[in-house]
Amino acid sequence: MEQFWAGLWEREDEFMHSIKPEFRHGTGLVGVATLSGQFYCEYKVENEFTLGEVPTEAKEAGTGLHNELMPTEEIAPEDFARLVGGKGPSYAVLGLWGAVGGLRLVGMPDHMIWSEGRPLWLLELKTTRGDPIPLWEDQENQARIYGLLLDRMGFDCTNLQLAVVRLRSGALGVGEKRDWATKVSNALMEGRVRELEEKYRGSMKVHLLRHDRDLAEAAVEAKRGYWTGEREPTSSQSVGKCRACEYNQACAKSLAKH
Ligand code: SF4
Repeated sequence: MEQFWAGLWEREDEFMHSIKPEFRHGTGLVGVATLSGQFYCEYKVENEFTLGEVPTEAKEAGTGLHNELMPTEEIAPEDFARLVGGKGPSYAVLGLWGAVGGLRLVGMPDHMIWSEGRPLWLLELKTTRGDPIPLWEDQENQARIYGLLLDRMGFDCTNLQLAVVRLRSGALGVGEKRDWATKVSNALMEGRVRELEEKYRGSMKVHLLRHDRDLAEAAVEAKRGYWTGEREPTSSQSVGKCRACEYNQACAKSLAKH
């Protein structure tokens, strides 16, 4: 196992040293969250680069809640290897990286459960002011691509499952936030997700997905041309999406300008 970790860190080092500004907007790395955002609207990603990121109340509230529910503390790589190598289950996240379809991808999942060096669950938390039941394409693909990167990094992903938890903002009281990650992790490990959803009926939905390399590769393939310069960005055909978008007044492709 020690050999695996040493090899992994060496390959990570090589990967990071191979970065050059070869993709759209002179970027050398594409964030998995950014690439997945293309499934909402590719022009929104384009606007983020050309107009800059626009802070919104929802984004700030979402970041704050992520930090409250899944606080992290940085540890040394050797300690990480020791922690996730135990029988566990242990909770730890690491930066994911890898080349897929000619793109250099990087990203950091929200939460992971490990046992004996194998990732068992990868969880993404998505907060919403609306209905938590639908699972949007961008959210599904983000989790899928994280799974693919883990796989390509060389982890044994035979038993890896993905969970996208959609949680209504304001659904949790102060006391419930403290042990939320443990409660959800236990429910995932013990197959009690429906019970948990029942408890938070209408406020939380746990979307379960099996790790599938082909689906994740297809998601990257669908969006890579934007980065490699093979094509220009597409834009949303949904007035509803444009209405909800923070660029709707400045965007050249907006369907919801007042
Ligand atoms: S306003 Fe519409 S087309 Fe423009 S970035 Fe937003 S969602 Fe895309």
